[in-house]
Amino acid sequence: KGPADSHEFKAETKKLLDIVAKSLYSEKEVFIRELISNSSDALEKLRYLQTTHSDIVDSGAPLEIHLATDDSKKTFTIQDTGIGMTSDEMVENLGTIAKSGSKAFLESLGEASNADVKSQMIGQFGVGFYSSFMLMFTLSLINPILNLINGHQTEAEGVQRGTKIVIHLKGDCYDFAKEDIIKDVVKKYSNFVGVPIYLNGKKINIVQALWMMDPKDITDDMHEEFYRFIGNVYDKPRYHFMYKTDAPLNIRALFYVPEYKPTMFDLSRETDVSVNLYSRKVMILSKADHILPKWLRFLKGVVDSEDIPLNLSRELLQDSALIRKLRQVLTNRILKFFLDQSKKDEEKYMKFYQDYGLFFREGIVTQPEQEQREDIAKLLRFESSKCPRGQKVSLEEYASRMKAGARDIYYLSAPSRELAETSPYLESLVKKDIEVLFCFEPYDELVLMNLGQFNKKFLKSIENEIASEGKESEKVDDNDPDSLKQDDVDNLITWIKGILGNKAHKVKITKRLASHPCIVTVEEMGSARHFLRTTFAERS
Ligand code: ADP
Ligand code: MG
Repeated sequence: KGPADSHEFKAETKKLLDIVAKSLYSEKEVFIRELISNSSDALEKLRYLQTTHSDIVDSGAPLEIHLATDDSKKTFTIQDTGIGMTSDEMVENLGTIAKSGSKAFLESLGEASNADVKSQMIGQFGVGFYSSFMLMFTLSLINPILNLINGHQTEAEGVQRGTKIVIHLKGDCYDFAKEDIIKDVVKKYSNFVGVPIYLNGKKINIVQALWMMDPKDITDDMHEEFYRFIGNVYDKPRYHFMYKTDAPLNIRALFYVPEYKPTMFDLSRETDVSVNLYSRKVMILSKADHILPKWLRFLKGVVDSEDIPLNLSRELLQDSALIRKLRQVLTNRILKFFLDQSKKDEEKYMKFYQDYGLFFREGIVTQPEQEQREDIAKLLRFESSKCPRGQKVSLEEYASRMKAGARDIYYLSAPSRELAETSPYLESLVKKDIEVLFCFEPYDELVLMNLGQFNKKFLKSIENEIASEGKESEKVDDNDPDSLKQDDVDNLITWIKGILGNKAHKVKITKRLASHPCIVTVEEMGSARHFLRTTFAERS
């Protein structure tokens, strides 16, 4: 037991630990995250003891983590000025699988005093340390410590407070002796750990985890910097949205909508969700595609939940009830956020809708629950027969203007406002003072058809309505002096059928038209649309 004491596991133990580590961690690089998290915990414990004890060793030593790479010796070293371990603790905590000294530490503190230090503590499962077994050849725990508080001080006189671990890398892991590689991995996983991390003497992490802060304390500049960092982009956010809750599960989330318009890449469904999942400021998964539905992939941001185990793999994430709950809560909150924004600053919202509204349409077509689809539908905007050109209404506004007892919301698909307004389909409804929404993009019509209902009202295409009205021809009113007689009607229909032959499936009379003499409708449009919808859904 000297300052440079090192401990060897038995060969078979090592083998077992290697298997454990491989089953828990899909990527080798996470050992850096785990070692840093342990150092961070050791530093937090020390920070806590500083508040309760006055006799801390090296009390002036700053709370820091130092990493070092040695490419010629093929080593990776981590050293912290935390609480350290006695030799016994070392054997106990590191030599026993699923033994967490951190958890025991918190338990020893009792409920009252530990709220703050508890919220900072990362480790709890006692398996993180074993991730190093995937890549080391030997491992030295130098000055296995020490003497924080009087009485423990005997073990390594004159050695600096804390823990130092030197990993001698295996042949296929030599990359981790390279500074650039380590730097990237630290940035990826441990950038927001609450203590400074130095790599070969240079500080490499940003310690401000904005999503954990009070929104009041965050300036626009801080948001901008943070957004650029996590989004890997160079513009500004147009919206930011922070959300925090402790029930039904712990969530701290921060999302941004970019100022730039979505690119083809952003629009592609191949593109991953660009939100990273953290637990206690340590990254667990980048591009965590199950914590948000795919159609929200335009958001950049961070979700942190201390309820999520650190060693969660992508596969586990996929079918975890916890993640489903998380996704549901977040999606609802995000929808509410956009709805609020649309009321707060309509002009800004419409600009956003112009750029990003396509994602909402995708959401409606791809989201399975009707309730959530209708929540997304609240964010849609349409021109309508009762609004001046260029002005748009929401489905809620439309519904609020409906006459008492009316059950249908009507829409009309047309390539432009001119064509919509002169459409023969429109006039019969306008005559009855019924508002009609205009769909200028074919996908808008698909979306409304797919939505089916909104607020218990039925969404109806007026084109479809006219095409499918009464299987029989309407009857002629013999008392109407302006109307053709039944004989004339029959002759006319026979004549038209003769001219058109099998170009027309059916010829019939209607009273719906006012100024247009006739109209061509597509009876099978329903199945044509169905076909379009399934191809759309398949792509998605
Ligand atoms: P966990 O962090 O979940 O407790 P680990 O396997 O990562 O599990 O670590 C096991 C224990 O070893 C920790 O709980 C802690 O008591 C101890 N430990 C690990 N690294 C350090 C360190 N750098 N300084 C002090 N104690 C440490
Ligand atoms: Mg740990």
